[in-house]
Amino acid sequence: MSHKDLDMKSRCVHAGIEPEPKGAVVPPIYQTSTFSFKSAAHGAALFQGKEKGYIYTRLGNPTIEAMERAVADLEGGYDGMACSSGMAAIHTVLATFLHAGDHVVSSESVYGPVTSLLNTVMARLGIETTFVDSSNTAAVAAAIRPETKLIHVETPGNPTLVVTDLAAVAALAHKAGARLMVDNTFLSPVLQQPLALGADIVIHSLTKFINGHADVVGGIIVPKTEADYKAIRATLSLVGSTLGPHDAFLVHRGLKTLCLRMARSCENALKIAEWLDAHPAVEWVRYPYLASDPQHELSRRQAKGGGGVVSFGLNGGFKAGVKMMESVELFALAVSLGGVESLIQHPASMTHANMKPELREQAGISDGLVRISVGIEDADELIADLERGL
Ligand SMILES: *Cc1c(COP(=O)(O)O)cnc(C)c1O
Repeated sequence: MSHKDLDMKSRCVHAGIEPEPKGAVVPPIYQTSTFSFKSAAHGAALFQGKEKGYIYTRLGNPTIEAMERAVADLEGGYDGMACSSGMAAIHTVLATFLHAGDHVVSSESVYGPVTSLLNTVMARLGIETTFVDSSNTAAVAAAIRPETKLIHVETPGNPTLVVTDLAAVAALAHKAGARLMVDNTFLSPVLQQPLALGADIVIHSLTKFINGHADVVGGIIVPKTEADYKAIRATLSLVGSTLGPHDAFLVHRGLKTLCLRMARSCENALKIAEWLDAHPAVEWVRYPYLASDPQHELSRRQAKGGGGVVSFGLNGGFKAGVKMMESVELFALAVSLGGVESLIQHPASMTHANMKPELREQAGISDGLVRISVGIEDADELIADLERGL
């Protein structure tokens, strides 16, 4: 039976699992750094790629491979490559395909450290990046140059939740001979499959929804083609930012409930977004599936749900944001997202406190902006908690 024919709910449970010699239902944890060869000739055959097998965990490990197969199955990609973090996944792709003199176009609403990675480590290597509002397809087209090799999109974007038309941007990338890489962390393959919309590479911070339990930091790269897989795997084996077997086991365990968790997070997030939208202390709410969201139609066309992240602006600005952080009890004051527990953060006083107010404003991060990651608790109890802070 091919998993590809099954519904996502079944695939989340069964993806990546292969018959195990001793009959274990769950893939065992191969907590080993190295694997012994049956003979010198066997070792030689493995190194030459003439025989399939395991050599050393940085190059491959059965526990890690099971999880990689599972995520690749859900994304519809050739295969997956697990990394030590989401940032490691992004860096490994950049290091594979970019040379000095190349140019990158990136969404301006991306995970903060991605902006820094492009502006520091990559810029030092002679790779230039233009940041654009990728929800405006014309702005992406205008930013492309003859030397553009990669377009990096995060949708919905962080923390503004603007949505990029993936099919349109994929067409632009391919016309320019560039690859489209999509950070699918916010929605997961359960809600959005960028490869089917034309993207070439999907990356995830496994730390968020895919693992879902806030107990692992990890990343994954899923390319569409075998050629890209081989090129990226070669880089990953050398730069060595791979995941450990025990973390891979935990992520694979978390993945089995991804559909269930996502469904509850989406249901809760929409209910909270609608409640916030009607609240007098709230200036604006951004949630892709909210009927009043300016990109609601594109979101419905491109994704099967709005995800678990909601951003909103408080009328009372900075002070109101701080008061909210001090009042909530059920929401934990923490960065990150995509776990079973709900988190809240106020960028102006927390993550972006060191940024000049003008620059914050320019990046769409107003003083009253609050971002929540909605977990799987009871929606009414989460609403009561937010009410305390308003
Ligand atoms: C967290 C996050 C990352 C980085 O992932 P790490 O696992 O923390 O390295 C990248 N992109 C998005 C959208 C994220 O939320």
